[in-house]
Amino acid sequence: MIQTQPQLKRIEELRQLLQQASYAYYVLDAPIMEDAVYDQLYRELQQLETQYPELVTPDSPTQRVGERPATHFTSVRHNIPLYSLENAFNIDELQAWDQRWRRQLPTTDAVKYVSELKIDGSALALTYQDGVLVRGATRGDGVTGEEITQNVRTIRSIPLRLNFDGIEPIERIEVRGEAFLPLEVFKQINEERQKAGEQLFANPRNAAAGTLRQLDSRIVARRRLDFFAYTLHIPGMDDASIANTQWEALELLQKMGFRVNPNHQLCESLAEVAEYYKYWDTERLNLPYMTDGVVVKLNAFKLQEQLGFTQKFPRWAVALKYPAEEAPTRVENIAVNVGRTGALTPLAEMRPVQLAGTTVSRATLHNSDRITQLDIRIGDTVIVRKAGEIIPEVVRVIKELRPADTVPFVMPSHCPVCGQEVVRESGEAVTRCVNASCAAILKGSIEHWVSRDALDIKGVGEKLVHQLVDKGLVHSVADLYDLTEAQLLSLERMGEKSAQKLVDAIAQSKNQPWHRVLYGLGIRHVGSVNAQLITEKYPAVEKLEAAKQSDIEGIYGIGAEIAQSVYQWFHIDANQALIARLRNTGLQLAAEETATVNESNQNFIGKTFVVTGTLPTLKRDEAKALIQKAGGKVTDSVSKKTDYLVVGEDAGSKLTKAQSLGITQLTEAQLLQMLADE
Ligand code: NAD
Repeated sequence: MIQTQPQLKRIEELRQLLQQASYAYYVLDAPIMEDAVYDQLYRELQQLETQYPELVTPDSPTQRVGERPATHFTSVRHNIPLYSLENAFNIDELQAWDQRWRRQLPTTDAVKYVSELKIDGSALALTYQDGVLVRGATRGDGVTGEEITQNVRTIRSIPLRLNFDGIEPIERIEVRGEAFLPLEVFKQINEERQKAGEQLFANPRNAAAGTLRQLDSRIVARRRLDFFAYTLHIPGMDDASIANTQWEALELLQKMGFRVNPNHQLCESLAEVAEYYKYWDTERLNLPYMTDGVVVKLNAFKLQEQLGFTQKFPRWAVALKYPAEEAPTRVENIAVNVGRTGALTPLAEMRPVQLAGTTVSRATLHNSDRITQLDIRIGDTVIVRKAGEIIPEVVRVIKELRPADTVPFVMPSHCPVCGQEVVRESGEAVTRCVNASCAAILKGSIEHWVSRDALDIKGVGEKLVHQLVDKGLVHSVADLYDLTEAQLLSLERMGEKSAQKLVDAIAQSKNQPWHRVLYGLGIRHVGSVNAQLITEKYPAVEKLEAAKQSDIEGIYGIGAEIAQSVYQWFHIDANQALIARLRNTGLQLAAEETATVNESNQNFIGKTFVVTGTLPTLKRDEAKALIQKAGGKVTDSVSKKTDYLVVGEDAGSKLTKAQSLGITQLTEAQLLQMLADE
């Protein structure tokens, strides 16, 4: 038992919290957490209970449907319980559900599924006696609901009398379906409530549930609830005599005068269901009502009957939900990263969680102010959000689930990488390492230099940068251009081919335009757009170096903060030395037109060169840089577009290809001659 102590504690915490949430949601119609968060915590509880079945109690939220009905309406017992639906959150889980029911009921017959949209509203049970609506009830806890017939009568899409034209009249019928508020109406209601200073409804579902349980039917009538029918029961009679399948039942409901959601589909396989699910993932956003998933049902009633129900769900149906953008998870550690600007960024390392279709295990906590504001601690259960393309972030802590022994997080006083004391300037939220030779800053700045919007050097990733810095091969971005194949070969798991490719890729980056170089320098506040604005005004680095701060600020779109940052950067000796070195490597520190005017050579303009083999005196990079400076283009591979192949010793396949294409070959001496001629 000792082993299960922490689990038991967690189980109890989860139950208590889920019970509170359920009450707020079903009885008060005012949820205290997002549905996705509820679902995830519920799953955690379910998993713990599966692992420790001896800890399951009958009052656990996993054993109950909904909540006990509120007291101000008359309670009614449902003839047939209203169940909830089992959830699946992706296609794998849908398949698992399929395998589960097939294990219970092995069948070789072709099985059809009906896919329906899961309307986010509130379930209603309607009873018709001799075709007349006699009772409308909420789901309540599934067994007992609230009698709300008066309110139900105000919903125009619910027929008060059924149309039996062409159908044998049926004495007693029970119809289930979803009462919902169209999004437009939901918005209007909330606007009105805001004006009246009333609490807003969290979502259309709660608004629908709240409306259905209004004591004053006139208010219900004004709110324009709508209804989609999806289940037909004929108590005491074999349903099969009138409909054999869910598909037929939906048709019949329509004939009788109900609105049935038109977007249901008969699917011949799970693959078709998956397609339907995928299609509606985006298409549902164009619907005038809210949907949060797809309900998949076995079509044949015979199968449904044979499978029956668990305590909570039908075994023959499953709710396939769309990925949530928010979910709870546990913080296992708070790490501190040092970026290229020296900024210390706290990072939550979390138990991996599925979010908006991806697995998330890390989220930035921005800075120490944010941590203090959230009061986030190691061991906390937190809500993480990832909407669309947005980087995952922690939105809040569920304090109710905080373990007893946590301590507030404190930012380190020393850089976790170089150990030097960190600085936090007054008025700034960011804590920084100001040691210019801190390895983390260097690594960050090289990663930035090689990144896609900067010099875009393919093959130089985070791992390689760390190796280069840790081995002392690179102390600044300029050192990248001195790297030799032999040096690279000394690195772990580096083959000859890769080393050569890297050297070539680095050399190739010398063709990148001036604005990318400026962006790559990583000057604070200079993003790639600002870099373009600045280089348009200053088409050569010398001009920018000589610019006054006020001139830079004069550029349309460049503010004082950016101008100051650029000005200061160019007035630091170490940075000027860096620019001098970069200039020597042959990087483009001027826009193309300027380069052409100053250095171009008619022999090279518009011509494409490839350099291969070992040249007698020049390094391959140097040869490439010379060609580029003269206005030529250097590419990596030989093609029909290649004009010259500069060939050294031990040239390989490039030479063979050039020969087969009849491309002019140059020796180093001939190249130098061409450079000299003008
Ligand atoms: P559910 O909403 O996951 O699924 C069952 C319901 O789906 C049915 O009762 C029915 O009303 C509805 N439905 C819509 N379209 C349908 C269709 N075509 N066919 C059949 N049914 C259809 O389950 P539930 O038991 O109503 O509610 C549980 C859910 O409620 C949880 O997953 C959670 O998201 C939410 N909840 C949230 C909180 C909170 O605090 N935010 C608390 C409790 C419950």
